[in-house]
Amino acid sequence: MPENSNHMTDQPVNVEKIKQILDANNGARIRTWLNICARCGLCAESCFFYLAKDKDPKLSPAYKFKTTLGEMYKKKGNVDREFLEKCYEIVWGECTTCKRCSMYCPFGIDIATMISTARTVCWSQGIFPEGLARTLTNYRKTGNQMGTSEEDFVETCEWMAEEFEDEVKGITIPIDKPGVKYMYTVNPREPVYYPQDLGMAAQIFTVAGEDWTMPSSGWDCTNLPMFAGDRALAGKVVNNMYKKALELGVEKILITECGHAYRSAAFEGPYLAGYADGKPPVEIVHSVQLLYEYLRDGRISIDPDKRIEEPVTYQDPCNVSRNGGLWEEGRKIVEYLAKDFRDMSPNREHNHCCGGGGGFIPMGSEFKSRRMVSGKVKAEQIKATGAKIVITPCHNCFDQITDLNEEYELGVKVASLKELICEEMIIPDHLKPE
Ligand code: SF4
Ligand code: SF4
Repeated sequence: MPENSNHMTDQPVNVEKIKQILDANNGARIRTWLNICARCGLCAESCFFYLAKDKDPKLSPAYKFKTTLGEMYKKKGNVDREFLEKCYEIVWGECTTCKRCSMYCPFGIDIATMISTARTVCWSQGIFPEGLARTLTNYRKTGNQMGTSEEDFVETCEWMAEEFEDEVKGITIPIDKPGVKYMYTVNPREPVYYPQDLGMAAQIFTVAGEDWTMPSSGWDCTNLPMFAGDRALAGKVVNNMYKKALELGVEKILITECGHAYRSAAFEGPYLAGYADGKPPVEIVHSVQLLYEYLRDGRISIDPDKRIEEPVTYQDPCNVSRNGGLWEEGRKIVEYLAKDFRDMSPNREHNHCCGGGGGFIPMGSEFKSRRMVSGKVKAEQIKATGAKIVITPCHNCFDQITDLNEEYELGVKVASLKELICEEMIIPDHLKPE
């Protein structure tokens, strides 16, 4: 298994390995998809890469899978390194595996799955982005993508609980508490760059009277090996989380405001971790679902005087809305928070990817200019709403829209649900600090 990307070298291609991958990963289904594709082109207009670059036919979904995975099957895995280098550009630089195109294909061909399989082939030959390679090394060494030690993580939780004592009386961040309802898992960006996110979550859980814990290990719910094509490591990463939840005997795993983490934990992870029935061993809940339930059931309440007056819009993360089914819950939360909600068009499950998904953000500076070009569709969607605030429950959407804000001079503020809920939530009298 390759430790690091070495796609600039000229090592011989391991054809046997490629054949194994082509046979193992949905081989029969993929062959059928390749055969039934009628080249009708109906999927083309669904792809934001295609739309952002003047409808370049080379960016249509069908062209992308036919010239990569299609060729691999046609040549029975007998491909050379030069071909794989060309695939590298397409499978990582021209597709975020957002799954929008599958909704527009009359045969329901799952193009994202095919691109993901092509990524696995490239990865098996050491051809994958350096930015992802770095995170994979961290996952292997520490179980999380940023290489944070258990000690540092626990200390950050304790620090945040202390910091937020001034906001909510009796706030705690319990670590490894067995038998609770929710084990809360986060994106490492939170403890490393935005530790206040941990404090904000604790604030909401305390007000809601939740029975919860943070795990000292298995707390990273992200899964970048899934986007790198390293299926074995992707299985280990998601299993870290499942195992910790089973060890603690918790009822459910709660996923922070992160899109791909939900896709991994709830939908793709079980297969990657060896659960043949495709079901996670512990129920998975996304924050959007739980935050909506808190508001709906009155476990937390919004101060009507603090509702946002400025126009706001909502960015549907692909893996929360289209691939996670939570588009209405997200909108209902925004209704509680803001007076002037302006939806993007198209929206909900039809919304376009922001251009930061599929591992694009951690792929780093090598891919930044492409991110900005393909993000044109999202920038135009946001601009058309006239919104001043873009709310999104996903770290990658947050980063991508922050970059698009600068690139396209959108003049917006990007915010998470947690952040706005904490700004507007009523702290009950018995939890007000003295
Ligand atoms: S999965 Fe998304 S990015 Fe990839 S080809 Fe389809 S629409 Fe385009
Ligand atoms: S819409 Fe489906 S059948 Fe038509 S070109 Fe695209 S993938 Fe092929």
